[in-house]
Amino acid sequence: MNAFGVVMLMVFLVVVGGLGYFFYQNLPGEPVDLVVDEPSATLQDKVSYSTSSQFYKNMRFPDNTISYAIEEICGNKKREQFQEALRILKEETVLEFYEDSVEPEIIVTCSDLMPEPENKGYFIAGEGGPSEIINTSLYAVILQGKISLFREEKCEKPNIALHEMLHVLGFDHNDNPDSILFPTLDCEQQIDRYLIDDINNLYSVTGKPDLKISEIKATKSGAYLNFEIKVVNQGLKNAESVELAVYADGELVIHNSGKKFFDLGNIAVGSTKILNVENLKIGRGAEEIGFTADPNNNVDELFENNNEVELVLGE
Ligand SMILES: [Zn+2]
Repeated sequence: MNAFGVVMLMVFLVVVGGLGYFFYQNLPGEPVDLVVDEPSATLQDKVSYSTSSQFYKNMRFPDNTISYAIEEICGNKKREQFQEALRILKEETVLEFYEDSVEPEIIVTCSDLMPEPENKGYFIAGEGGPSEIINTSLYAVILQGKISLFREEKCEKPNIALHEMLHVLGFDHNDNPDSILFPTLDCEQQIDRYLIDDINNLYSVTGKPDLKISEIKATKSGAYLNFEIKVVNQGLKNAESVELAVYADGELVIHNSGKKFFDLGNIAVGSTKILNVENLKIGRGAEEIGFTADPNNNVDELFENNNEVELVLGE
């Protein structure tokens, strides 16, 4: 073989080797399941100030500032009584209230009829209660409450309005005859200390979203990753423009399109977004795949330490 032949053979070998490497890197192989690296890393978030006196665990409005509207039919007297009840609650607790006729969180009616349950998993406790709630794993978020003040107030203090407002805040009756939450009203009844403490504890946390990767299934085929991920918002407020990043051995995976993140859009309180991705190229050698919801911390959350899951190749 002359020198030209040797050069050609080397070129040939380089080309074949390069092609082989290219195919090795890019062709799908046998799918391998990925498994959660440390199951304990799936954090158990705790909100420890739950009380047994509420209809559901950790019931609260998204914020400590709550809007309300009083229907005109109520007239001035009942209007003043209700506002006096709000004033007392504001004085005793961290809660604040403001009137908002457009999108009130609490609606006060005064018709003779009991409030009608509507169709969103509503329930009614007596003449006042949360009327629209969303259960996340951390909170029962009250989106709306209704009160019907159809009885005349017989006490000096607005005891009926206070009693119903406490129902709206998620509190059930108790068996203390001296309590404002005793089923039968009496003018001497007072707001129990535990109610004030519970309200202040519940609302000591600022209302924020909380994103969490609730489920992940992934397989690796050669250089490619297929996955289905579920991201839940278990917080108190909606999360906007949520992104998801995928990492292979610690390096951010750039999509074939050049994008860096998957766009999960807005995730409302209590909602879960499911993202299905096929054939994301991560490289054949990748052994650890990480998923991070909100990688740039655009969303201010209750907990920032439950947004990541790390997977490794299964057996
Ligand atoms: Zn009641």
